[in-house]
Amino acid sequence: MADRYQRFASTGPGRLLVRRLGLPNPVPLRRHRPGDPLVPAPVLVGGGGRVTDAVHAALRSARVDTRSTPESDARYGALVLDATSIVDSRGLRALYDFFHPVVRGLTSCGRLIVIGTPPDQCDDSREATAQRAVEGFVRSMGKELRRGSTAQLVTVSVGAEHAVESTLRFLLSGRSAYVSGQVVRIDPVGAVPEVDWDRPLAGRTALVTGASRGIGAAIAEVLGRDGAHVVCLDVPAQGQDLSAVANRVGGSALQLDITADHAPGRLAEHLRDRHDGVDIVVHNAGITRDRTLAKMTEAQWDSVLAVNLTAQERLNDALLGADVLRRGGRVIGVSSIAGIAGNVGQANYATSKAGVIGMVRSLAPVLAARDVTINAVAPGFIETRMTAAIPLFLREAGRRMNSMSQGGLPVDVAETVAWFANPASTGVNGNVVRVCGQSLLGA
Ligand code: NAD
Repeated sequence: MADRYQRFASTGPGRLLVRRLGLPNPVPLRRHRPGDPLVPAPVLVGGGGRVTDAVHAALRSARVDTRSTPESDARYGALVLDATSIVDSRGLRALYDFFHPVVRGLTSCGRLIVIGTPPDQCDDSREATAQRAVEGFVRSMGKELRRGSTAQLVTVSVGAEHAVESTLRFLLSGRSAYVSGQVVRIDPVGAVPEVDWDRPLAGRTALVTGASRGIGAAIAEVLGRDGAHVVCLDVPAQGQDLSAVANRVGGSALQLDITADHAPGRLAEHLRDRHDGVDIVVHNAGITRDRTLAKMTEAQWDSVLAVNLTAQERLNDALLGADVLRRGGRVIGVSSIAGIAGNVGQANYATSKAGVIGMVRSLAPVLAARDVTINAVAPGFIETRMTAAIPLFLREAGRRMNSMSQGGLPVDVAETVAWFANPASTGVNGNVVRVCGQSLLGA
């Protein structure tokens, strides 16, 4: 699992060699630690569109040192441009005018954020064209910035301006260390609940499937850190590891195979009887059974689809049908960049993970009526036992073929899940956000 190349590249001789040979330079990423400031250097905000006031209010609430006038030679932790006032292609010049003079002043692990309008919400074709064009700018910046910096586009629908704080906090902080080149959409909602930003999930119950190890264990830890009681679920064979995770996060363990016929009913009963319902459901359990299609057995196809997709649909039906998922609830899927790009030997897996995206997109409007959101993370190369088992050459390629030149950590996926789970993320619905360091796959 250890990334020996990254360790070597951070030594004196390693740094020299990396620079001389133009090799990938995986800098240590800024990851969140409790007590850290949201951004370690001032944030420059520009633009003056309809979201600017809300951006300033969010940054004030987060006690961020904010500047509105660029200074030559200044160092900035983040550059934020409200581009919602761009209404045609000529207006795109505002991107150049704002970022060109200051982009060199961005610190390492800095943040570049552009705020736009979703093209389908624009008044006419010219505005929609220009707003769509911003995506190309942001994705290119993600690739150009290097040194662990990220670039994102946040599209804010008209009427959703007041709902940007949880997303801005996530994207500016070290919680989004391995998220880059993404387009996040915020839709109109009623009032946004007030939260204690240190423990936003206090008093909530979360279910995490596949929680005994890897990404699921990290999700359980982060949701527990944020104040949730976490019901950690895994198959009986993982019972010992599962109990250890549940104890560590101060939660409880539930041994259940999610593909069993009785699983949805048992789970609904457990959550209703023991916890009076559930607020957050994270469908993390997943398996791979890789083979090219010609060599794949029926069992390999069936088991992957059953765990990764059908079980999730059955659990959703049971939890929603019996009103076990409370109002204000959160459903969070775990897709994969393989579900976006496809992959040799993973026709079964990619089908199931693309299905997760379909589930998110189709259920989002239905669940919105119940004040519930559904979103998914799509991880890229994450350092787990699963990826440690990949043959060396492929593993190295997977690690380096992204803008960060390194693999992500389970905590990076977990922090993204926690942002979706936050009660203040009520306008974030129907999003699929890749946690892949802007992988070249599926770009
Ligand atoms: P992992 O194999 O370490 O953990 C998966 C967990 O799911 C295991 O504890 C397993 O026992 C549990 N599980 C499997 N079948 C189950 C069932 N029928 N009922 C209950 N639990 C079951 O995998 P991981 O790397 O931590 O991956 C977690 C999720 O992230 C998966 O959905 C995976 O597809 C996805 N993902 C991982 C990566 C990566 O790089 N590791 C990349 C993209 C997506």
